[in-house]
Amino acid sequence: MFETYVKYLAFLNGKLAKFFESQKPYIFCKKGCAMCCKHTQLPYSLLEIKYLLTGFLQLDKETQGKIEMNFNRIAEEKKNFKGDNFLYDCPFLIDDVCSVYEYRGIICRTFGLMTKKIDGRTTVPFCCFQGYNYSNVIDLEEKKISQKKVKERGFPEEPYGFNIDYEYLTDAEIEHAFQVSFGEKKPLIDWFID
Ligand code: SF4
Ligand code: SF4
Repeated sequence: MFETYVKYLAFLNGKLAKFFESQKPYIFCKKGCAMCCKHTQLPYSLLEIKYLLTGFLQLDKETQGKIEMNFNRIAEEKKNFKGDNFLYDCPFLIDDVCSVYEYRGIICRTFGLMTKKIDGRTTVPFCCFQGYNYSNVIDLEEKKISQKKVKERGFPEEPYGFNIDYEYLTDAEIEHAFQVSFGEKKPLIDWFID
C-alpha cells in the first residue's frame, strides 16, 4: 500500500541529507532539541497520516497510551481555545523524542533548513531567533541573512534557501513522478480532533 510513498520518502531523505550536509556551518540541531515539534501547526495529507498511524500501531501499549493522553489534553485545550490559530505540541512527541520517527510526515523531515517558499520568499527556521540554526549569520534587526557575517566568519558560501516548501514537496508533479496520491491536507490535529 505504501510502496511508492516509501520510495518517495527514500528519495526525499537522500536529498535532505545532502542539503543538511551543505548547510553544516549554520545548523545547530542537537539531540533532545524538540522545539520544532512544539507549539506548532503541522500540515499533513491523508497519505502521510495513514503512514504515521502504521508507525503508531507498532509502538508498545504504554507509548500508545501516552500518545492517547496527549490527544485528550490537546482536545481539551482546543475546546477552550478562543483564537483562530490553534497551536499545539505534537501528540507523538514523547519525552522530547519523536515516537514515530521513521513514519513522520514530510514537513517534519524539512525542519531546520532555510526554505524557498512557493511564493518566492526565503524563510529561516524560527529557531534561528533563539540561537539555533542560521543564528550565526542572521541580522536580528533586519531579520535576514547578513552577507557581512557570512564573510566575517569565512564561510565558503552563503546559506541557501531550498525548494522544500510543503506545498512543493506534495504537489501534482511529485504525485505524478512517484505515482503517489497525497489526498486531502489539513493540520495534523484536525485528522483526529474536530
Ligand atoms: S511527528 Fe515526530 S517529528 Fe513530526 S512533529 Fe511530531 S514528534 Fe515531531
Ligand atoms: S530545527 Fe531548530 S528547533 Fe528543530 S531540532 Fe533543530 S535546532 Fe531544534
